[in-house]
Amino acid sequence: ARKFFVGGNWKCNGTTEELKKIVNVLNEGQVPSSDVVEVVVSPPFVYLPLVKSLLRPDFHVSAQNCWVKKGGAFTGEVSAEMLVNLGIPWVIIGHSERRLILNESNEFVGDKVAYALAQGLKVIACVGETLEQREAGSTMDVVAAQTKAIAERVSNWSDVVLAYEPVWAIGTGKVATPAQAQEVHFELRKWLHANTTPEVAETTRIIYGGSVSGANCKELAAKPDVDGFLVGGASLKPEFIDIIKSAE
Ligand code: 13P
Repeated sequence: ARKFFVGGNWKCNGTTEELKKIVNVLNEGQVPSSDVVEVVVSPPFVYLPLVKSLLRPDFHVSAQNCWVKKGGAFTGEVSAEMLVNLGIPWVIIGHSERRLILNESNEFVGDKVAYALAQGLKVIACVGETLEQREAGSTMDVVAAQTKAIAERVSNWSDVVLAYEPVWAIGTGKVATPAQAQEVHFELRKWLHANTTPEVAETTRIIYGGSVSGANCKELAAKPDVDGFLVGGASLKPEFIDIIKSAE
């Protein structure tokens, strides 16, 4: 069985005081044990050491990005080695905000995933179509091409969580229906089966992101191929605890 995974992507939000408050809420929350659910929160780089030092030991931290190769003369970047050096176990790679706003290509994202894994990081790799692509009927082509660029560069998927985040559902309040999420997750698992190994397909967590809330998480979590969530806005609120509880 795949262990349920709930990630909180805090994006470019928060002050020291605000993040201390949300960490307190998380630390006091009653949630299922870490045998049942894996919880990872992802603050901006500059707050990673603080959040890591304050966060309950059964939750873990993640960066939101890292550089594509070894550090050096790359002004403004943070390398995978630095994250390892700080004991940060996870990194989000290929979020749609980076693909679309910062023009990260499928190949660049694939290279980043491979490099981060090789340094010993665990990776939340994001894929997802825009509204235009969905309406054109190319959802599966888009997410398959995004996943292929990762699969061509990665053979060991045991430290990868695949996040399906339809762009039209992110920050819009327009959540995918459970049927829409299940359909894409099922197809992604089928794609993994055909293009990696049956074991990778069976064991890789495929999580959903896009307007997940305390109100809609239960129905989504009930779908057989939805193995958890990547939560944006609601992960900065006490409601995140309710989303973690949907693991049960
Ligand atoms: P929202 O939950 O705010 O829609 O964001 C989803 C997301 O982008 C998580 O990575």
